[in-house]
Amino acid sequence: MRETLIAGNWKLNGSNQSITELVGAIISGAKTVNCKVAVCAPYIYVPLVSKLVDDSLSLGAQDVSEHDSGAYTGEISAAMLADFKCSYGLVGHSERRSYHQETDEQVANKFNALKQAGITPVLCVGETLEERDAGITQSVVNRQILAVIDKYGIESLSGAVVAYEPVWAIGTGRTASPEQAQSVHADIRTLLAKDDNEIAEKTQILYGGSMNPQNAASLLAMPDIDGGLIGGASLKAGDFLAICQAA
Ligand code: PEP
Repeated sequence: MRETLIAGNWKLNGSNQSITELVGAIISGAKTVNCKVAVCAPYIYVPLVSKLVDDSLSLGAQDVSEHDSGAYTGEISAAMLADFKCSYGLVGHSERRSYHQETDEQVANKFNALKQAGITPVLCVGETLEERDAGITQSVVNRQILAVIDKYGIESLSGAVVAYEPVWAIGTGRTASPEQAQSVHADIRTLLAKDDNEIAEKTQILYGGSMNPQNAASLLAMPDIDGGLIGGASLKAGDFLAICQAA
């Protein structure tokens, strides 16, 4: 049985004060929910959130450098994140892939950097609207996942998390239907099972894309949807906790 994970992605939002308040409110509600809860903070607030979290809330980062150390101005390494008790790290979010031209190979290297540091990578994959309309959703998603498997092996997926996030659903208020999401999630599991059935069965596959308190229960009820990656709705403790309660 896979545990449900609800992870918030705060993106470029927050201040010392708002994040302290938000974490306090999430922690008081997270103690009574039946799922694992995490928040992915902007880098600069990672030390702050690291001091605030307890057993009911895990800390994640929104990105990581593919390099361990050296002359890479502005970058943050996986070891640095581990120093601040980061349990999770997002890699390959569509906003990184599109605004920062991150390639599948760079995403795979970032995934591996997190693994090496003992941090759980959350590998974000998903198709654009044009790709969905062209009928190539699964080949795009498979390519993004195979970039990791081909370079680092299926074993690298052991203990990792995959987040299916259709680009057309992120921040748009347009959600994939539970059936649309389930179909892609099931195909992702089939892809993993080709190499290792046990890893396929154990891997948590999250859905992300305008998940909110209204649509969470029906998405999370699908057999291959093991949680959610939540953007906008994770900035309001009430909405975020309502999604956790739906899990
Ligand atoms: C995201 O950016 O990962 C995301 C799912 O955003 P939103 O919930 O706002 O669509």
